[in-house]
Amino acid sequence: MKAPAFRYHRPTTVDEAVELLAGAGDDGKVIAGGQSLVPIMNMRLAEPETLIDLTGVDALRAVRETSTGARYGATTTHMRFEHELVPDVTRGLLPYAAAGIGYPAIRNRGTVGGSLAHSDSSAEWPTVMSALDATVHTRSVRGTRAVPVRELLLGFFTTALEPDELITEVEVRRLAASTRWGMYKMCRKPGEFAQSLGVVLGERERERDADGPWQDIELWLGAAADRPLRLSATEAAVRGGTSADLEPARLVEPLAQDTGQDPSELDSTARYALQLHAVTVHRALRAAEGMKEG
Ligand SMILES: Cc1cc2nc3c(=O)[nH]c(=O)nc-3n(C[C@H](O)[C@H](O)[C@H](O)COP(=O)(O)OP(=O)(O)OC[C@H]3O[C@@H](n4cnc5c(N)ncnc54)[C@H](O)[C@@H]3O)c2cc1C
Repeated sequence: MKAPAFRYHRPTTVDEAVELLAGAGDDGKVIAGGQSLVPIMNMRLAEPETLIDLTGVDALRAVRETSTGARYGATTTHMRFEHELVPDVTRGLLPYAAAGIGYPAIRNRGTVGGSLAHSDSSAEWPTVMSALDATVHTRSVRGTRAVPVRELLLGFFTTALEPDELITEVEVRRLAASTRWGMYKMCRKPGEFAQSLGVVLGERERERDADGPWQDIELWLGAAADRPLRLSATEAAVRGGTSADLEPARLVEPLAQDTGQDPSELDSTARYALQLHAVTVHRALRAAEGMKEG
């Protein structure tokens, strides 16, 4: 199937883009890499009458380091993160996450702003940017806003963006030298969306003790609900210990709590999914423990 007919605009400035978007009303949509929108249009699940292509706007590709981190233009492609063609302020997490997205053809065109605006909780950027507490900067004809990614993602394919609002930049804070990160993507084969996606950020109890227990730890899980989940109960189970103290099976109970499920009432499919998430989180933890500091 092919998409129905649409009007096509390719602005060259952000001002022009937001004016076109506002003028198109409810029937207008921006397109960045097109790696999510085009398949959806081809399946006729979305039928925008007007498409505003952002790839002609150089300002949306700009990336700059700041005193606190970096601001990545919304149309920065996954490939530019993967190959470190843009500064990495996360000591490897951004390139690592980008390299796991789809296939090279997807990464060459797909963009960080498009992935966040699409809000698929099985995708890499929503969970990674939530864990990093990143902020999106937006523009519309009414002005600008700064929205934490944790507040942007409201559910499956649903965000806090207004219909006439554009993500212009994604701001990521620099990770402290003492912060360790780990990530694990569970998927059936490389190139597929995650069945489970775990991201760990944390500090050891004693900074110099590479094998010491976790003190401050944040665990995030993608592909488990309609948006990335912060795993507070699982964090409490991990704090003060290491992955060696915890078999994945011991994470099932706190994970059930974090995902709002009663373990005694789960059918075999739901139990399998929880066990999968437990293994994912455990592997992300181990990856973080294996990471060198600095
Ligand atoms: C076969 C295949 C495999 C894939 N595998 C993965 C995977 O493993 N992991 C993963 O994370 N992703 C995967 N993807 C998705 C891919 O990463 C997409 O590129 C990404 O989700 C969307 O980015 P895009 O730039 O292509 O956005 P588009 O498809 O152009 O747009 C997506 C949505 O975002 C909106 N939008 C785009 N840019 C902006 C903006 N700046 N401001 C406001 N709204 C905007 C559009 O209007 C549209 O609603 C896969 C895609 C395919 C086709």
